[in-house]
Amino acid sequence: MLAERTQSVGRYAPSPTGDLHVGNAFAAVVTWARARQRRGCCLLRIEDLDTPRVVAGAAGRIVKDCAALGLAFDPFVVADAAGDEAVQDGVVWQSRRTRAYADALQALVDDGLVFACRCSRRDLQRAASAPHAGDEGPVYPGTCRELGIPLDAPDVALRVRVDRLARRHGDPGHGAAGHSAVVAVDDAWQGCFAHDVTTDVGDFVVRRRDGLFSYQLAVVVDDRWQGVTEVVRGADLLASAPRQILLHRALAASDGTPPRPPSFAHLPLLVDGDGQRLSKRSPQAPGLLGAVLQQTSAPALIGHFAALLGVVVAGARLTVEEFAALPLEAALQRPTVGWAPPG
Ligand SMILES: [Zn+2]
Repeated sequence: MLAERTQSVGRYAPSPTGDLHVGNAFAAVVTWARARQRRGCCLLRIEDLDTPRVVAGAAGRIVKDCAALGLAFDPFVVADAAGDEAVQDGVVWQSRRTRAYADALQALVDDGLVFACRCSRRDLQRAASAPHAGDEGPVYPGTCRELGIPLDAPDVALRVRVDRLARRHGDPGHGAAGHSAVVAVDDAWQGCFAHDVTTDVGDFVVRRRDGLFSYQLAVVVDDRWQGVTEVVRGADLLASAPRQILLHRALAASDGTPPRPPSFAHLPLLVDGDGQRLSKRSPQAPGLLGAVLQQTSAPALIGHFAALLGVVVAGARLTVEEFAALPLEAALQRPTVGWAPPG
C-alpha cells in the first residue's frame, strides 16, 4: 500500500559512499528548508544500494552531521508490515529494500518493458560513433534489444525499452499517436527541462550486471512507497527526472494506481572558482563537514550559505529554522552558486 498524500512530503537521500562535504551540507540544508517552507515533512533515506561503494560507518556519520547542523528529519511511518525491516528509527535504508525493487522489476518485465544486455562498457563506448553522449555515458545503441537474451542469463544487465515506455507513458499531446518520447519537467528552480528519452537517454539500466538494482529504479520505487510529493536534490540529477517520471507512470499503470509522479526542485550546485562542482577532493573546498564544524559553528556555516545565495549579509549566523524563513525562491533559480570560504 502506498502512503496517502495528505501533505507535502520531501526527502533528503544521501549516499554513504563517503562523509558529507560542504556541498552536500548545502543541499541538505536547502532540502530541509524547502520542506519547512511548504509546511510539509522531510524524510531521511540512506541510499546505500551501491554496496561496493558504501564506506563503512559513513551513514552513521551523515546522520550525526545532519543533527549537528540542526536538521531534524521526520520519521517515516511504514504503512505496510512488509516494509518494516527497511526502516530503523524512522529512516529508510535502501540496502534492505531489495525485495521491493525485485517486485517492481518483475512488474516491468510482465509489461514487456525489459530486456537483457550483454554489452560491456567498452562495447558501448565503441558503438557510440556519434559524439552525442548521455549524462551517464553514451546513449545505448540498442544492440541487444531484439536479441531475446534470457533475463536470467549470467552476466547480463537488464535495461528498459524506452521506445515502449515512452509510447505508453510519454507526455501526451505530441506526435501523431498522441504520445511522444518527449518528457518535460517543470522544475521549481531550474525551469522547464525536456528530454526526448529515446535519443537523449536510450534504453537505461534497471538492474546492473553485478545484480544490483539501479539508482533510477530504486529511487522511484521508494519515492512511491514513501509518498514523496516533491523531490529536492542537486541540479546534477535534473537529467534523471524524465526517466523517473516514466518509471513512476509505468509502475502506477502496472498496479492500477493513479500516476502521480512527484514534482521536482533541483537546487544549484556549489562550485569552485573554476566552475567545478565542489567535492571533498576540490582544492578550494574546506574539506569534510565534520572537520569544518570543528572550525566553524553550524549557525556560522548556515549563515554563510545564505550569504552565498545573496539573501543575507556576510557574517550572519542562522539556525536552520531561520534559514528556512528567508526568501530563498529567487535565489535558488540558477544552476550553480559560487563557493567562497567564510569570513
Ligand atoms: Zn547490449
